[in-house]
Amino acid sequence: MEDRSWIQKERMSIEYVKGVETFIKFAITNSMVIDGKIRCPCEKCNNCLFQLIRDAIDHIISFGFLQNYTHWHYHGELVMPSQSGQVGPSHALKTRRLGRKQKFKVEVNKHGQPIGEKAQKFSSFIGKLARNPQVTPLTYHTWKELPQTYKDDVWNRVKEKFEGPGVKVTWVMKEHAKLWRCWRCNLRKLYKKHKALESCMKHCKVTIPEDQWRCLIQHFETTKSKEQSEKNKANRAMLKFPHNTGTKSFARLRAEKVAEGTPEPSRAEVFIMTRTSKKGNCQNQATGEAIAQINEAMSQLPEGIRDDPAPTDILSRVIGPDKYGQVHTYGMGVKPSEFFDEAPSRSELMVQNAVLREQLDDLHNKVDQVEANQAEKIRQLEASSKKVNELQVQINLLMDMIKNEEASGN
Ligand SMILES: [Zn+2]
Repeated sequence: MEDRSWIQKERMSIEYVKGVETFIKFAITNSMVIDGKIRCPCEKCNNCLFQLIRDAIDHIISFGFLQNYTHWHYHGELVMPSQSGQVGPSHALKTRRLGRKQKFKVEVNKHGQPIGEKAQKFSSFIGKLARNPQVTPLTYHTWKELPQTYKDDVWNRVKEKFEGPGVKVTWVMKEHAKLWRCWRCNLRKLYKKHKALESCMKHCKVTIPEDQWRCLIQHFETTKSKEQSEKNKANRAMLKFPHNTGTKSFARLRAEKVAEGTPEPSRAEVFIMTRTSKKGNCQNQATGEAIAQINEAMSQLPEGIRDDPAPTDILSRVIGPDKYGQVHTYGMGVKPSEFFDEAPSRSELMVQNAVLREQLDDLHNKVDQVEANQAEKIRQLEASSKKVNELQVQINLLMDMIKNEEASGN
């Protein structure tokens, strides 16, 4: 790490201004600029507020750079906690690697979801990373906002501890995002209960640095965040068929059944298994009614016929079609295309739609042309019949003239 003692220097000194320049370059190199703004490390913004680069420079010069902010973890510098205090990333990585030679093997199913003995350990390790404020700082408020360096770090830590040919970064990232959201939601509940920062810190099981708590609370207090939280709450309340699996994933549940020697359970069977408690109860009336209907439909299934996942299987018929992009009872990371080959994707549908629209337009044009042609013919016909009439009149006149001629000639 380069010399950062400039932070303590006189704000108008050359060293200080040069230091500020180094810092800004550091943030830019680490892609910490979002919409032209960076997290401002001035005494006022305290790394909680974003400012345009120009304004951040102004702030750092006028209000001063945070005195104890010498390790720039909010600006892309990785933090690896160790007993001897904060150390650089490469050193910490070496220590961690030396201490852990053996990796855990993770098995995955055909959809890339972890199953088997180590699945739970794998998932809870990702959960620990999501709750670790050094690995996933709470100063970022959405997964999208979280810089790539942190995401890469999560993936590297996972790879250090677990291995398996089917372990995919996409699944790990989705799981981490999900568990991090869950963690933030729990922290919000804690804040709602204890209100003050000090008591939040006292009651939180994980030690979160005070500046991160401040940032988080500041975010919780925004109207946008409050609205989103209410919306999420309403959505959860709308869940018609809540399940009781606890920590066991659908993938593991299926794998366990298969390991017991039974065929892979259908979606309807998994629905019943995950909605019924050990005592045989379910959480609400709607779920109970759905289960009764499923049982009825399953009893009518002809022998030897499997209720394979499909938009027309028993579960779909009872509880309705899946939400877009999801396959009910298969959990995260499973796409409908893995089961429903013949069902076109949304983009395919859009293309088909566009083609149909073009054909329709074409047809409309043709009809218009035919109509125009017909109108023209009718007009011509009318015109010629008018001529015929005129001719007839003339002929009649002529005939009369001839008759008169003949009469006078006689
Ligand atoms: Zn500032």
